[in-house]
Amino acid sequence: MAQPASGRPVVFRNGIVLTMDDRHTVLPKGDVLVVDGRIAAIGPELAAPDGALEIDAAGGILMPGMVDTHRHMWQTAMRAYGADWTLTQYFVWYYLQYGKLFRPEDYAAGNLISALDAIESGVTTSVDWSHGLRTPDHGWAAYEALASSPGRYVFAYGNIHEAPWEWTADPEVRRILETSRDDERMFGTQVAFDVSDQDAAFPELDAYRAAKELGLRVTTHAGVWGATNDWGIRNAYEAGVMEEGFTYVHAASLSAESYQKIAATGGNVSLATESEDTCGQGYPPIHQLRRYGITASLSVDTSVWMSADLFSAMRATVNADRALEHYLAHQLEPAETVTHVKLRVEDVVHMATRGGAQAIGKDDEIGSLEAGKLGDVVLLKNEDSPTWAPLINPYGQVVYQAQRGDVHTVLVGGEVVKSEGKVVAGDLPGVRAKLDTTVAYLEREIGDDWIAGQFPEIPEAEVLYNPYQYKK
Ligand SMILES: [Zn+2]
Repeated sequence: MAQPASGRPVVFRNGIVLTMDDRHTVLPKGDVLVVDGRIAAIGPELAAPDGALEIDAAGGILMPGMVDTHRHMWQTAMRAYGADWTLTQYFVWYYLQYGKLFRPEDYAAGNLISALDAIESGVTTSVDWSHGLRTPDHGWAAYEALASSPGRYVFAYGNIHEAPWEWTADPEVRRILETSRDDERMFGTQVAFDVSDQDAAFPELDAYRAAKELGLRVTTHAGVWGATNDWGIRNAYEAGVMEEGFTYVHAASLSAESYQKIAATGGNVSLATESEDTCGQGYPPIHQLRRYGITASLSVDTSVWMSADLFSAMRATVNADRALEHYLAHQLEPAETVTHVKLRVEDVVHMATRGGAQAIGKDDEIGSLEAGKLGDVVLLKNEDSPTWAPLINPYGQVVYQAQRGDVHTVLVGGEVVKSEGKVVAGDLPGVRAKLDTTVAYLEREIGDDWIAGQFPEIPEAEVLYNPYQYKK
């Protein structure tokens, strides 16, 4: 499980290669060579430089590192805590009751574990939707945690505890944004806020202007049932501040007009399908994005509820779209039968790779295995697992059969960060120790509510009267 010396060329041999390029090239048996941090060549039996690390990919699948466009990394410090929550319970907990308890070091601990979690599952680029930055000290701590972690991170700065037109005006916040923007260790910087007021005066306009002044993109939760809806899109559109490359997260409960405005301005949507399935933002809008021609990427949202890997996201997305398609056909008068599904497994692999790269404006650098792109490569292979035999349809294998334990090797910029199934970058024991401190602190501060918060009351369910009584 040697991590090769930094800068050593790496060649993967004899894998099925899902390039995710524009021609949909799949090599049934091919090599991928990474030299000086970039993909040098893809093809059969490549010549590799002397001293290259050879990795046997036979029986496995090579694909680009995956891209997650919306992950609240700080909340990984409370992994699985809110698995039975609704969006309402989430808002009450983080926004009203306990989100402010997070100290800069707790915030950083969440980011650090989330970063290792991401690369472990083959996600090499994540947009950290960092919306609990209630002081600049939190901002610096969050940023430093990302910059020092293995993997690529886009720091999307946000603060749910203050109005966006307030915190974006803070000179110290602007200094953090500028520092992150100009830091080569970062893969991008964005401004993250929601338009949650139905105020015709549109005070959020100042936050859009701040992003523009700083040369940064905006990412915003839009189309979240009961929280952000059409008025936010309407205000932004009328003010002319919806720009190409802005990301609309969820976009699950919007009108046709809003989808058209997103499409017309070159916006993209981050689907967090596991989240939309369970929290209540609205039905996952895959069918709407298809209808209006909007670029889709995938995201995991938050591990306080859901899984933190894009295998689950891809599967949830296919399932949600196909379930709706069948259901709607069955409700028609007369009922119809869907004989051919619209959304294909290749489409969701595309969303998890190219879609994400396009969403953050980095399609020329990541998202596909093509010569010249950054050396972010994932090898899926698990010889000990019966799930890997036979290996017939690689897209089907990735979406419906594979899981994070099958991620054998991960390269970020040619550096091995996961090898033979184990994360070999970062400091997992050190991060675990930080998390222990954070969880003990939260438990102490919150008291009895710590347990109660995990087990919301269950509404009464009535079992219907059944006229059939089966008697022997
Ligand atoms: Zn979110």
